[in-house]
Amino acid sequence: MKVGFTTSFPMEVVVGAGHQAIDLNNIFVLNNSQELVANAERKGFPRNLCSWIKGMYSTISSFEIDEVIGIVQGDCSNTHSLMAILKHEDTQVIPFSYPYYREYDLLNEEIERLEKHYNTNRDKTKRIKEKCDTVRKKLIELDRMSWQDGLVKGIENHLWLVCSSDFNSNIQQYSEELDDFIKSAKSRKLKKAKYRLGFVGVPPIIPDLYGFLEEKGARIIFNEVQRQFSMFYMEEDIVNQYLRFTYPYTLEKRVEDINKEIELRELDGIISYTQSFCHRQLDHLLLKKYLKCPILQLEGDQPGKLDERSKIRLESFLEMID
Ligand code: SF4
Repeated sequence: MKVGFTTSFPMEVVVGAGHQAIDLNNIFVLNNSQELVANAERKGFPRNLCSWIKGMYSTISSFEIDEVIGIVQGDCSNTHSLMAILKHEDTQVIPFSYPYYREYDLLNEEIERLEKHYNTNRDKTKRIKEKCDTVRKKLIELDRMSWQDGLVKGIENHLWLVCSSDFNSNIQQYSEELDDFIKSAKSRKLKKAKYRLGFVGVPPIIPDLYGFLEEKGARIIFNEVQRQFSMFYMEEDIVNQYLRFTYPYTLEKRVEDINKEIELRELDGIISYTQSFCHRQLDHLLLKKYLKCPILQLEGDQPGKLDERSKIRLESFLEMID
C-alpha cells in the first residue's frame, strides 16, 4: 500500500510491514503545488486555511494514496478536521499522537498500536530503523559539510534533510544518490558565505528563498526542523529516537537545540519562518524572546516565488547584521 503521512512519525513501522511510506508534504511541495492548492479551494477549502493542508488534501487523491496516517497530537491543529473530511470521502485514516508529556510508555503504546494495525512487530521495525540509521549517519556528514566545510548550499541541505522524512519512499535509492552527492560536493569549491544564517520553523513553501539569499552573499547553514526530520540522534531504541524529536513537543527543547546550534555553527542571524494561518505563528513570540541571535520573522502563504516585500525585508535584515 501507499501510506501517506502528515508529518514525521515512526515510518519504520510502515516500511517494516512492507508498505511504502510517503510524506504528503514533500509530494505536494515538489510537484504541481499551486494547482493542488487551487484544486482544494475549488472543493470548498477556505482561502484563509494553511496551504499545506489544502495541498496535502489534493495530493492524496492525485497520487492515489491508499491510507493516511494523521498526526493528531504534536503537529497541526487542522489535522483532526482534515481526517474527518478524508474519512467522509472513504479514505482509510489512522491517527498517531505524540504524547504531550513526552513519556516513554505513552509513545511506546502509540508505536505498538501502529504495529498492530499493520500486522508487524518491533523486530521488523528495528531492522528498518537500522537500515535508516546508516543513511542518517551520512546525513550528519552532509549537515556537517554545510556548516563546517562550507561545501553544501542551503537549498541542498534543505532538500536532503526534508526528504529524509520518507527517504523519497526508497531508502536504497536515496542512500546511493546521497553517496554520489556527498562525493561530488567534497571535490568542489563554493564561494564562502558572508552571512551565516539559520532557518527555524516549518519548512518553507517558497524554496527559492535559499537561492535569493545565496545571491546576496548569505547562506543558510542550519535548517532546524528539516534536521530534526533526519533523526540524527542515533538512539538504539526507536521510542527514544522519537522522544528526542523536538518538533512535536513543547517549545523549550526546540529553543535549547536551536541555541546550541547558533553557538556551534556561529550563526549571524535566524530566519523564523511561519506559514500564513498557522497556529505555530505564536511560537515566534517566544523564539524572539529566547533565541540568542538577531531574528527575522518571514511569512509564506501560497507556494511559489518569494515576493518583493519579503526580498526587501531579507535585504534589510542582512544590512542590519552588517
Ligand atoms: S504550516 Fe502549520 S497549519 Fe500548516 S500544516 Fe503545518 S502545522 Fe498545520
